[in-house]
Amino acid sequence: MKSIGVIGLGVMGKNIALNFLDHKMEVVGYNRTKSVTEEFLQEAHGKFKPAYSLEELVKQLPSPRKILLMVSSGEATDSILKELSPKLNPGDFIFDGGNSYYKDTNRREKEMKALGFHYYGVGISGGAKGARFGPSIMIGGDQIASLEFMDLFQEIAAQFNGEACCDYLGPQGVGHYVKMVHNGIEYADMQLIVEAYLLLKKVGRFNNQKIAEIFESWNQGKSKSYLLEISSKILKEKDEKTGLSLVDFIKDKASQKGTGKWVSIESIEQEVNASLIISAYQSRVTSNDPRRIIVSQQLPDPKGRDIDSIVFAQEVKKAYYLGKVLAYTQGFDLMKDASEKYQWNLDLAKVASVFRSGCIIQSALVETIMGLYQKNKNLRSLMEEELILTEIKDKVQSLRVVTSMAVLQGVPTGCFQSALGFMEQLRNVHVGANLIQAQRDYFGSHRFERIDEEGEIHHEWEN
Ligand code: NDP
Repeated sequence: MKSIGVIGLGVMGKNIALNFLDHKMEVVGYNRTKSVTEEFLQEAHGKFKPAYSLEELVKQLPSPRKILLMVSSGEATDSILKELSPKLNPGDFIFDGGNSYYKDTNRREKEMKALGFHYYGVGISGGAKGARFGPSIMIGGDQIASLEFMDLFQEIAAQFNGEACCDYLGPQGVGHYVKMVHNGIEYADMQLIVEAYLLLKKVGRFNNQKIAEIFESWNQGKSKSYLLEISSKILKEKDEKTGLSLVDFIKDKASQKGTGKWVSIESIEQEVNASLIISAYQSRVTSNDPRRIIVSQQLPDPKGRDIDSIVFAQEVKKAYYLGKVLAYTQGFDLMKDASEKYQWNLDLAKVASVFRSGCIIQSALVETIMGLYQKNKNLRSLMEEELILTEIKDKVQSLRVVTSMAVLQGVPTGCFQSALGFMEQLRNVHVGANLIQAQRDYFGSHRFERIDEEGEIHHEWEN
């Protein structure tokens, strides 16, 4: 019987422990707060072996030990490792299943390796339900160790056409890097759906029930996605107290736990345009801005315009899909760039295959992306593929129509606007950067390149 130790029996830890148990594995569970372990023992009908100290956990596991950390990322992970490592033997395996920052995982992998342990950063997506019944799992770390542990994770992972959505993706913190980018794409796709909902509500004047039906109708073929499916269900849900739409009783502000911020910063450091992801992150930040109250009182909505709502909804569908294609493209561009920078040799077809089920961004588009990277392993960017270029050609006018309507009617659509801005910058032969070169040379003698000569020159602008 395979055995695994799970440290941290919070939302994710206990669900993943139940998932291991379902697959006939022996689980030893430990949680810092004892009462949590006791409560979970009752909930699990005594099916796992409780440990009330790390010593107890280590003693109950056969060698080489396999231990999964499911604790809050950051200091908690470091403090557990500090306490746990002296109790382990060389050759034991440690898996960090939390949302750790990949650079922390790079560091920890080095530290743990120096102590003789095999260390892996394991990105897990799918929330509590995924953890319980089959998450998407992205593993990075020690290349030298045998990957005999893989079946532990492959068995509990989501399945897609009989294949586990779980893979070893490369060395160091690559598993957590991919998870971070997954979350960035998730932020962008969620925000695009939110903006489509706002447009359909404010410009199209559809009610929640009707928008739910529109989303349901979108959720098929190449637009099919988990996020559209749940958004449609959410909009149909009634409040038990009032019988009205539940979503209208939810405060209009969104929080975040850090991966959206990391991926935004990372894209700036890598100098890869991830404008949709950054815009989605900033929208969550601004949703919490107290100035919204004052400004909204001073600036009412612009006057509405008469439109054909049905036609408009079709335009929104196309604009949403194009925004989504661009968000995924930006995410995969980021991974490609990081892989080259860190020599991870990341197989992006494999990444897409892991995203096919169990995770939040599972969608038909992910399957298309997998096919494109399988066809061409050296693809520089999805944007260079005929299929993606055709989507862009087919839908860019809808993105323009929808975005201009949003601007005229004052609907907050930062992500749609970022998508269009990104597209127009790539599409235009002339983007004005010649003037920037001239400005920089004027005030800072930074020199510029001429179109008809090699090399950089400086011009005396004030002569
Ligand atoms: P919870 O808040 O439910 O649980 C946090 C767990 O961490 C608890 O067991 C807690 O123990 C433990 N913990 C916190 N600080 C310490 C510490 N200093 N020392 C020891 N244990 C500590 O979080 P989740 O289960 O949701 O998340 C766990 C990890 O999984 C996080 O890294 C999260 O980012 C990641 N994750 C979460 C997802 C989700 O949808 N929730 C999805 C994917 C990944 P105690 O009970 O004693 O406080």
